Amino acid sequence: MKKVVILGGGGFIGGHLAKRLKEEGNHVRICDIKKHEYFFQDEICHEFILGDLTDPKVVDTVIEEGVDEVYQLAADMGGALYIFTGENDANLMHNSATINLNVARECVKKKVGKVFYSSSACMYPEHNQLDASNPNCEESSAYPANPDSEYGWEKLFSERVFLAYHRNYGLNVRIARFHNIFGPQGTWKGGREKSPAAMCRKVAEAKIGEQIEVWGDGLQTRSFLYVEECVEAVLRLMNSDFTGPVNIGSEEMVTINDLAGMAIDISQKRLTIKNIGGQEFIDKYGFKCPLGVKGRNSDNKLYREKVGWEVSQPLLVGLKKTYYWIKTQVDQYEKETPWIYESPDGGKTVTKREPGSLTKKTL
Ligand code: NAD
Repeated sequence: MKKVVILGGGGFIGGHLAKRLKEEGNHVRICDIKKHEYFFQDEICHEFILGDLTDPKVVDTVIEEGVDEVYQLAADMGGALYIFTGENDANLMHNSATINLNVARECVKKKVGKVFYSSSACMYPEHNQLDASNPNCEESSAYPANPDSEYGWEKLFSERVFLAYHRNYGLNVRIARFHNIFGPQGTWKGGREKSPAAMCRKVAEAKIGEQIEVWGDGLQTRSFLYVEECVEAVLRLMNSDFTGPVNIGSEEMVTINDLAGMAIDISQKRLTIKNIGGQEFIDKYGFKCPLGVKGRNSDNKLYREKVGWEVSQPLLVGLKKTYYWIKTQVDQYEKETPWIYESPDGGKTVTKREPGSLTKKTL
């Protein structure tokens, strides 16, 4: 039995990873600023420490001597609305960099056996991702660096922090660059959700004959990896002797409209896609449409070569599981919310909103 610590285990990937490691018989300690929303605590860990990892005293308490493995997944992050509007840049850079600086040093001080660091494909240069049909995300293309977001710059900086501790203090580290991980038990509303969850939610909420909104022209490309395959890939990397950084993602590249179309097919509802961008988007939301790069796909050559395994599940399989889970969440939320109904024009149009919210849905 190994003693493992999962930082950010109250989040999406960390929760799934913690569950798997606990099921395999390891002793699991989690630290996060919030409890997991969808897993019961005893499903995923033996100990849960509610704490802020930007505070070095918390990191000192959480990472003790005798810990075999630390998985560092804590980060101030979210979907396009959180990362690409620029509104959260200072906070997310400060918070995530501080966590990583604290953790790398503490792992050396406490002689931790092995450390995993979760970087992101967002660190790849923008100029290699301008062609939607042919993006380059080979690991060696990272420099000269030019990520399109501060989130990506922080990830690149923190990769370098862990690698510097590896070179100077012998820290035994594994670094992966995740490409769009998705699945159940993740954020599905509120602005921090990623595109697969957002598509599934919009489709689950829509009535037959309605349109679902897709931001931008929908022709931007991405690949999406199901969370269970991501966890498998992380554990195999940890058990290999390859430091990385290495991509962990799927090579099944689709357009965002394809992704929306898949969610519609799964739902078996008759729905259409409305692409919204430019001035129409600004008029509706009050800010520029946050899109990210034109194209991005995982390149798994290096992972295959160094770890000797590959992800294989088609996107559709994971998307079905995710859709049905999100549909259950949407139905439950709809039932449990004490909606306020309003009609300023004497019944011609009716809107509903949550208590305390100004966002109205027209019925
Ligand atoms: P998540 O937001 O669900 O999980 C991150 C967790 O970190 C959250 O539970 C959050 O509360 C916690 N956290 C944030 N600040 C903290 C602090 N100061 N102290 C303690 N905990 C704190 O995100 P996720 O999707 O599970 O991603 C996990 C990691 O993988 C992150 O580092 C993320 O940047 C990286 N990543 C994820 C994806 C993806 O598609 N999900 C892609 C690339 C990289």
